[in-house]
Amino acid sequence: MNLILIGPPGAGKGTQAKSICEKFNLCHLSTGDILRNEVLKQTDLGKQAKDIIDKGELVSNEIILEIIKKFISINMNNYKGFLFDGFPRSEDQADMLNNLLEEIKVGISKVILLDVDQSILLQRINKRKEEEGRDDDSEEILKSRLDVYLTQTQPLIDYYSNLKLLEKVDGTMEIIQVNQRINSILEAV
Ligand code: ADP
Repeated sequence: MNLILIGPPGAGKGTQAKSICEKFNLCHLSTGDILRNEVLKQTDLGKQAKDIIDKGELVSNEIILEIIKKFISINMNNYKGFLFDGFPRSEDQADMLNNLLEEIKVGISKVILLDVDQSILLQRINKRKEEEGRDDDSEEILKSRLDVYLTQTQPLIDYYSNLKLLEKVDGTMEIIQVNQRINSILEAV
């Protein structure tokens, strides 16, 4: 089973991804986490990506393709599939993912949209900034991340809904309720 989790910044993708992956033995592929780790380790890739992440913009598709390919080849034999979190983030990246999955002869089972209203996102991210201290959680950068989400990522909702893969889940419910709702969708796959 290969899943994609889509949702605006602060929708709770990371939290849900963790429990979905444990329950269904999937490998969590978070491009945001991988990039932050590269920045932390001060690798060449991390150095290239840092400024872009700090502006809330998207890093180049070349960088994303490189990290995804590497991550998939390292992990593909150890899990029942992948949960893609934070990728794809644009239609070009969705095409990239289709090509990659075709190469390894697997398909996308479901795309879960975690739907959360903008006003709630702002409150959640302010709280996360206090708790985790992520550099890109400031109000100004968040605006740009939301903007990128609306212009580049939101079109994926139609893209995957046309492919009959999309399941919309209300991300404003309690964590456990969101989790149960996702589980019941995935148990039926
Ligand atoms: P969010 O909480 O906004 O969903 P992420 O942790 O997924 O944040 O990503 C943080 C930052 O990493 C993004 O704002 C972007 O700069 C970069 N990034 C993550 N995934 C991608 C991607 N698929 N393509 C381009 N840039 C990405």
